[in-house]
Amino acid sequence: MAPSKTAPGRARGQGQWKLGHREPLNPNERSKRDDNPLNVRSRIENIYAKRGFDSIDPADLRGRFRWWGLYTQRRPGIDGGRTAALEPEELDDSHFMMRVRLDGGAVSVAQLRALGEVSQDYGRDTADVTDRENIQYHWIRVEDVPAIWEKLEGLGMQTTEACGDCPRVVLGSPVAGVAAEEVLDPTPAIDEIVRRFIGDRELSNLPRKFKSAISWQQDVAHEVNDIAFVGVEHPEHGPGFDLWVGGGLSTNPKIAQRLGVWVPLDEVPDVWHGVVQVFRDYGYRRLRHRARIKFLIADWGAEKFRQILQDEYLGRPLLDGPAPAIPERPIDHVGVYKQKDGRNYVGVAPPSGRVSGTTLVAVAEAAERAGSDRIRFTPYQKIVVLDVADEKLDGLIEDLNRLGLPARPSTWRRSTMACTGIEFCKLAIVETKERAIRLVEELEKRLADVVPDVPISLHLNGCPNACARTQVADIGLKGQIVTDAGGNQVEGFQVHLGGGLGLDAGFGRKLRGLKVTSAELGDYIERVVRNFAAQRAGDERFAQ
Ligand code: SF4
Repeated sequence: MAPSKTAPGRARGQGQWKLGHREPLNPNERSKRDDNPLNVRSRIENIYAKRGFDSIDPADLRGRFRWWGLYTQRRPGIDGGRTAALEPEELDDSHFMMRVRLDGGAVSVAQLRALGEVSQDYGRDTADVTDRENIQYHWIRVEDVPAIWEKLEGLGMQTTEACGDCPRVVLGSPVAGVAAEEVLDPTPAIDEIVRRFIGDRELSNLPRKFKSAISWQQDVAHEVNDIAFVGVEHPEHGPGFDLWVGGGLSTNPKIAQRLGVWVPLDEVPDVWHGVVQVFRDYGYRRLRHRARIKFLIADWGAEKFRQILQDEYLGRPLLDGPAPAIPERPIDHVGVYKQKDGRNYVGVAPPSGRVSGTTLVAVAEAAERAGSDRIRFTPYQKIVVLDVADEKLDGLIEDLNRLGLPARPSTWRRSTMACTGIEFCKLAIVETKERAIRLVEELEKRLADVVPDVPISLHLNGCPNACARTQVADIGLKGQIVTDAGGNQVEGFQVHLGGGLGLDAGFGRKLRGLKVTSAELGDYIERVVRNFAAQRAGDERFAQ
């Protein structure tokens, strides 16, 4: 008999609920089946916060805590080279990383001040602006979590489903509602999704994380989200949104596919809900590294996915729609720009997204002095202050500059991002944040005479999980242990060259053997940029 072409995993089923596979196929699925992860909140409030870290059930600690934005952080002083031999619990510190989801990246002055004060009071003044518009703290003690929730939730912020296999923060344009180029503001759809579906127990056990982005402009890295709605004008029906599904990075990166449909603003929440339900019911639950919706889309194709969405979940056909025009590069909003109402917005660049509680409080005060009550975080680890009158602009820019937040940063400061790295992340192999900050300073000096008129993005990751979107950077650096010239095992990076979003959407080439030690990074990048500048034809972009 001819051998079967069906992969062994397929023959045994992928754990798809809709096909009758309800029995959990791995420990994560068992944990979610045993207890809805959202239930852990009451145990944190009533037991763990009172009895301390050692009282926490390990299944909650390394699983369900994530649904409330909590991960254990890495024990200080454990370096990347030794972690392979350690059990996960040996890496645990008794402190937590806590992620606050800020849907649309939007906060008021009072909210920003509170975010800063939480960091000062409970997080040793740590705070990072993430590339998903979240604020991330470190050094959080379980004893303090209820007080933090009380403060944040009292001002309309939350950590609910900030991590875990559930719908995470919804990215929105940092300039939604104010941008001169915007035709339709999608903020009402983001607000409705959060109100109706975040914390909904029907959606709190997905096969894997689910990342969303909704923007009129192409400023939210929509190509690499699980679902994205991108603004487009329909020739007959007017402004609405083009639906993309199945993007994602990490190992097996995929650019999202268009379903070819046009969705009016008021239908965005229901269509979003339909797509999440398809993922919940048909998503693969056997292997965690093949569970994201991108694998389902890759197997089904966009046409079949659309058919199932329409027939089984929406009960109606969706309208065909055109593709949006693609900008040359994604938009980062750093600088000073006019709003549609004649006021201004100011986008500034913290170094690699690193700020502090003290800085956040100071930004809140600077914004208030400038007459603004709206601040936004961006998917490029930046901060934008909206609604600034002309006469307040110079004062605000000076205030922010004094805080180390320039509105006119160098090209390197502007285009560099870094993930959390070995300082706090248990999966990290190398250090990233501080390295990126030092690298930017070095490149500003080394390349002062070669200032490219196109930004060259530089993204550093501490491991193969692409939290800082290494694969879609002009120069992507993926942390790993490498061998130096003297034969020693040292921290270094695998280089990915020429990735991008927008017109250049695609993944950087991983050149065979192209690995650099951390110590050689400055030399290597200087060489690459000088070669690019010398050989560039006309207005050629780096990724071309
Ligand atoms: Fe941690 Fe790796 Fe993500 Fe960096 S890329 S934050 S090291 S999991």
